[in-house]
Amino acid sequence: MDHRDEVYIGGRWVEPVDVKRWMVIDPATEQPIAEVALGGPADVALAVAAARAAFPAFPRTSVEARIALIERIAAAFDERRDDFAASLTREIGAPTALARQQGEMAAAHLKTMLETLKGFAFERISGSLKVVKEPIGVVGCITPWNAPVSQMLSKVVPSLAVGCTTVVKPSEYAPLSALLLAEVMEAAEVPAGAFNMVNGDGAAGAALASHPDVDMMSFTGSVRTGAAIAKASADTVKRLCQELGGKSPNIILPDADLEAAVRGGVMMMFFHTGQTCGAPSRMFVPRELHDEAIKIARGLAEGLKVGDPTAQGTDLGPLVNKAQFERVNRLIQSGIDEGARLVCGGPGRPDGLTRGYYVRPTIFTDVRPEMAIVREEIFGPVLCVIAYDDVEEAVEQANATPYGLVGYIQSRDPAKAADVAGRIRAGYVSINYPPMDLTAPFGGYKQSGNGRQWGAYALDEAVELKALVRHEAW
Ligand code: NAD
Repeated sequence: MDHRDEVYIGGRWVEPVDVKRWMVIDPATEQPIAEVALGGPADVALAVAAARAAFPAFPRTSVEARIALIERIAAAFDERRDDFAASLTREIGAPTALARQQGEMAAAHLKTMLETLKGFAFERISGSLKVVKEPIGVVGCITPWNAPVSQMLSKVVPSLAVGCTTVVKPSEYAPLSALLLAEVMEAAEVPAGAFNMVNGDGAAGAALASHPDVDMMSFTGSVRTGAAIAKASADTVKRLCQELGGKSPNIILPDADLEAAVRGGVMMMFFHTGQTCGAPSRMFVPRELHDEAIKIARGLAEGLKVGDPTAQGTDLGPLVNKAQFERVNRLIQSGIDEGARLVCGGPGRPDGLTRGYYVRPTIFTDVRPEMAIVREEIFGPVLCVIAYDDVEEAVEQANATPYGLVGYIQSRDPAKAADVAGRIRAGYVSINYPPMDLTAPFGGYKQSGNGRQWGAYALDEAVELKALVRHEAW
């Protein structure tokens, strides 16, 4: 079993002061695979002090120097792609192909960030007014486990790009990926203190959010934790950028290519065993197409291979941990108890699997808006199919959620699709499943968050605007 006893502070590997031992459990076997040292509030304080100490010098580096720095990070990351994929499979149970895909996504974020920084205007002049974008200061980054590497990179890299220094508090369920990322930062010769990483649990996160020397918190995770971070940040009036949960609607319009629309929705829903923030978990289907849609969806779900994430051809690995396994099963049972019709799946492990946090791809229909499976973000492979009589009703129900992260529209008619997309209260609306656009602003309406990640929008989150005004033109 691997042992890792260090956190990365001020450009050095150090043993945490507030040390707590943590077992990393392989969700596919329920067996421990590594023991790591988690840090606590005292370690967070040391990391913030290192980031603060590095702050005066780091923003004075030229944009060219920061472009070169990100190029080195991208090169060092590429060298370790196989290690990242292996650690994602071990600690979060991501099937090998998915783990590699997460690496590609992270690399694409780095590439997009480089292009964005090259074209980013740090000042704008309008006569006697000059507006300058300056780094906000120390950015605290708290990340979830479901896409740990791209989540850490999509917070750290834009912050470094504008000259901020960073402290990362990764998820305790993905500490091995975080250790690898710190090794990448070390190999890329990120200046000491500009990147710090303290593995830790919620207590370390809370210490970061309340620390007076942190200027901004960038958080991705659940609504509940996002609200706690907002409260902890309030006393020191920090800026917040929060990417929270979702219960995303997928409206299939009557003119859509039904087969393609249902297939895309089912595959996206069950991708990563339903553990994605933008999962299209509520599929709205015209009533006259409902039975046909259910037939297509059931065929697809029943054809998915659930099992060992290291085996060739596995579609769905296990859920990340025992708590998620129990929660998802409880919610599936609640759907049955509340009277929804189970199309396929159900509680318990798939046949033939006796250990590991595996669940069955589950589809419900005949659901009502008040059911927990329709209201709550399940973060597991559970799809609700909802029949509608007219598009107005579908839009109304799609928006009847406290979330507003992603919306999906399926139609052959671009004008109709654009009209419905315009009425969805969500930060990112995808029409007919195009690839993700990493230059887009990514973030949520309502309780799905505040602020936006990705592209130039991410750089704008991490800057202060300074107005310089004089008599004469600049
Ligand atoms: P979580 O909220 O349980 O934990 C996220 C992080 O917060 C972890 O690092 C955790 O240690 C830390 N944390 C816990 N309590 C804290 C506290 N009191 N103060 C500060 N930090 C604390 O979320 P999770 O289970 O890791 O991830 C799943 C959630 O993340 C889902 O709700 C999902 O929708 C969301 N998510 C959102 C996006 C997005 O971009 N919107 C992307 C991925 C995941």
